[in-house]
Amino acid sequence: MLDIALLGVIFAAIAIGYGLGFRQAARRSRDRATPTHSGLSRDYFVGLNYLLNEQPDEAINTFINALDVNSDTVETHITLGTLFRSRGEADKAVSIHQNLLARPALSDATNAKVQLELARDFVTLGVHDRAQRLLRTLLEQNHDSELHYPAKRLLIDLLEREKDWQGAFDTAIPLFKQFPNIRRAAAHWQCELAETATDNASRAVAKRHLKKALQLDPHCVRANLILAELEMDNAHYTRAIERLARVPDQDNAHLPTMLPALKRAYLRNDDEDGLEAHLQRLIKVAPYTSLIIELGELIHHRDGVDTAIEMTGELLSQAPSLRGLNYLVDLYMESHRLQGRNTPDTRLLLLKYHTDALLQGRPRHRCLRCGFTSDALQWQCPTCRYWGTIKPIIGVEGE
Ligand SMILES: [Zn+2]
Repeated sequence: MLDIALLGVIFAAIAIGYGLGFRQAARRSRDRATPTHSGLSRDYFVGLNYLLNEQPDEAINTFINALDVNSDTVETHITLGTLFRSRGEADKAVSIHQNLLARPALSDATNAKVQLELARDFVTLGVHDRAQRLLRTLLEQNHDSELHYPAKRLLIDLLEREKDWQGAFDTAIPLFKQFPNIRRAAAHWQCELAETATDNASRAVAKRHLKKALQLDPHCVRANLILAELEMDNAHYTRAIERLARVPDQDNAHLPTMLPALKRAYLRNDDEDGLEAHLQRLIKVAPYTSLIIELGELIHHRDGVDTAIEMTGELLSQAPSLRGLNYLVDLYMESHRLQGRNTPDTRLLLLKYHTDALLQGRPRHRCLRCGFTSDALQWQCPTCRYWGTIKPIIGVEGE
């Protein structure tokens, strides 16, 4: 079982060995009369033996017992605690870190470091209130230390998990200048607040949050999408279309995301021609399959299936995709039926069978940061927890 945890133990063992050797050497230099036949403690070799026999739990326990907590070994204790947490044994990590905090001799900097690790243990265990209390105390007492930023990020992460969007925003404000990438997350917190306000029928409050979101991150597509929905709720369809028309400048990849809203706005405004012209413009910029299929359906219902085949066939040949092919096969099958043939074309049926099978279970969205895939769009990646990194999949497999 030579896994990452075991490698970690080996590193820890080396650190312990170094620490023990160092202390022995220091002791020898203090007392030169002492014979120097023994370099390391017996426990160290027992621990190493466990390690070599692939018994990491026993090895770790032996190493911990072998070590007094002092300025030479405190880092090793912290590392071992972290190792337990990464192995899914956060309760053991808590006891190691709490044991360290009980030592009065720790320096302020080390004390803060251990508190941060303990807060991480509590987060892993799901004890969020204790983690929050610990982090707030840590932040109050360590304004200028290097731990201030990681402690604040962890607190923000906790507040996000609790869906305390305003709390996360207030905590992050001092970081905006120094760490501009937090602004993207903050824009999404404002969108979350706007959606809550919309649920409570406070449209004016929602609009204020969305305006703030766009100030924080002008590329926040989500804010424009919610603003367009608010306009449509008030039957302001032209204004909704104007909002959606800004999306290509914000992020081209989200054109398929805004397509349902765009279609609704035009159709409620009874302006099918406007939708067709808008789709034509978008396809010139980004020939995504969803846009081509939407345009194909407009032509299909107005001019018939054969005109739709001609138009979509040409567009899809410039930007081929599996879903586009599947749509084209649907059109061919309908054309075949409309020609008055009673039996379906078996070649088309076979092709349809294959494209359906290839499309089945294929995700439509992917996180650009960690690769997480899903069918529906999520604004925060559930795996890497980044905001706005999940986008429609582009290319033959997607759009
Ligand atoms: Zn991700």
